[in-house]
Amino acid sequence: MVDIKYLQMLQKEFDLEFFPGFWRISSKEDFLNSLKHIAIALSGEVGEFSNLVKKLDRVFMNKGGEFREDYLDSLREELVDIFIYVLIGANLLGIDLGESYLERLEFNKRRFSSFKEHG
Ligand SMILES: [Mg+2]
Repeated sequence: MVDIKYLQMLQKEFDLEFFPGFWRISSKEDFLNSLKHIAIALSGEVGEFSNLVKKLDRVFMNKGGEFREDYLDSLREELVDIFIYVLIGANLLGIDLGESYLERLEFNKRRFSSFKEHG
């Protein structure tokens, strides 16, 4: 099992080595610039993921149920790209993603508890 906190640390080391400008934050404006960069990059990766789903669906619908298994590897790659920007965003916002996930999971359990009764 891989610790998410460890992944956040690895990503931060990577970013400091390859994109030091991203972490040169000495004002609110610098912080906002890095935050905007993450928002745009994350949206871009979500767009790439969605575009592949669109293509997968288009082939399926227009070619008699042909399912392009070969698109799945690309989809997996895009999902990891999304995860990378989520890690960077978590580092930027100063959260432990694993801990925050567990808190959110508990919140969602309470939030959706009424759904369970009807499901
Ligand atoms: Mg990508």
